[in-house]
Amino acid sequence: MSSRSSYEEREGLLAENDRFDDPFDKELTTQPSDEDGWPRSKMVKTASGFILLLILGVFARALLRSPLHVHPDLSFSGDYIRSNGTHDFRRTVLIVSIDGLRADYLDRGLTPHLLEISKRGLRAKSMVPIFPTLTFPNHWALMTGLYAESHGIIANNFWDPQTELEFHYNKISSAWNPEFWLGEPMWETANKAGIITANLMWPGPPKTKSGSSPTYFVPWKDKVPLSAKLDQILAWIDLPFDERPQLLMAYEPSLDQAGHLTGPMSTLVNRTLAQVDLFAAALHDSLVDRNLTDIVDIVFVSDHGMTDTSHPTLIYVDDDDMLGEQGLSAVVHEDGWPAMGLRFNSKKNESYYLEKLLTSQHPHAEGFDVYTKHTMPSRWHFAHHDRIAPVWIVPKIDYALTTRKEGDVGMSKGNHGYDNNEHSMHAMFVAHGPFSAVVKDLHRSSFGAWLPWKNKGWHSTSDDTYVMDSFPNVEVYGLVARLLGTENYASHNNGTKGFWDKYF
Ligand SMILES: [Zn+2]
Repeated sequence: MSSRSSYEEREGLLAENDRFDDPFDKELTTQPSDEDGWPRSKMVKTASGFILLLILGVFARALLRSPLHVHPDLSFSGDYIRSNGTHDFRRTVLIVSIDGLRADYLDRGLTPHLLEISKRGLRAKSMVPIFPTLTFPNHWALMTGLYAESHGIIANNFWDPQTELEFHYNKISSAWNPEFWLGEPMWETANKAGIITANLMWPGPPKTKSGSSPTYFVPWKDKVPLSAKLDQILAWIDLPFDERPQLLMAYEPSLDQAGHLTGPMSTLVNRTLAQVDLFAAALHDSLVDRNLTDIVDIVFVSDHGMTDTSHPTLIYVDDDDMLGEQGLSAVVHEDGWPAMGLRFNSKKNESYYLEKLLTSQHPHAEGFDVYTKHTMPSRWHFAHHDRIAPVWIVPKIDYALTTRKEGDVGMSKGNHGYDNNEHSMHAMFVAHGPFSAVVKDLHRSSFGAWLPWKNKGWHSTSDDTYVMDSFPNVEVYGLVARLLGTENYASHNNGTKGFWDKYF
């Protein structure tokens, strides 16, 4: 039985061989080739040799021309000093947040300067915010590389059961209380490495729980003209070597304010967009004037996008097919907006009203989801913290939660805070400086053509703009640590280990 089957296999294999010119089949070596009289195996071996030589040749050439000769910007970190022609500098990172700059705003034809900067440097298709897609959770995610469940700023307003304190983003007594702000911001990491830092209104506390503060700190103030912000940033950059910050963070809220006021498609948003674009241009030009583009990495980011909420479908949570009036009065703490985190006055009520919401026959049940910490989508990383309320109602885009009493009073024409998978919630990322120079050099080199990840993480368009794939904003902490050479000081975070390797 076994000999028969092995015979049949042999038959089959040999039959296969008849159809292929196997260069290593001894049987075939005796067969003459068609024209020149060379044995076929010799021809094949010679051809294989040529191909091998060709591959080695191209590879060697690629190596000679490749950035394996270490791009000079790669070694520019730590104590390495570079001159701009007149002054010595250490590697410097300037991260600027334009609040509410939705990723696709850059495609409106209103931001020629940001596009020009991204053309000289690079941009991402979009940057994915953390959930909830709100200002404070995301600015702290950018600073710490952590999701909300890890950095503790789980909304712009929430109640903390541990301290029994209420966090509210625009009340200084809570917004500056270091107890709320978990994780290590990039300026603390930089401080640990002995780097001078400067913070111009970046949302967050002036001091962390461990007592670390940015070297220079300008607290939040509304309606500060962009020109004043430009002057402050440049004043820091123009400081003498021993006083000059190497990590600068700056924040601008006007575009978000416009988006809320009149919606993302409004004239006001477009006009404000053009203004922040001019600000970006002025900042970039100032670096060019100072011959600092090989020294300063400028990174423009935003925290989230914006969607039109001028005509939302209202879902009244005190209607009988939702919580009902009694259910609403059983809520003792209500967190977040536009999603709603609910804490009830008893476990019994919590179970009862959760069940009521989950089985709701609401005519617009398609417009919202109800989650507990156990059912929350895992991709949100929004469950493992006791600041996250036990029950959440999360509206979908075009829907808004409200009560019969509140109605649509005070509801803005634009909003964010929805699912971070929604494209309208996505943020922007544009970078220029020594970092983008390395990326482009790597991509342009022959060696780049051999990289297994070619075109997987980024690609160039026909006009030579380099566009990275969308990536999560928790990776930015790791990027800045890498640029400043402070990776050994970096704190644990939710960024992906080695995420930036393919860009260097
Ligand atoms: Zn914001």
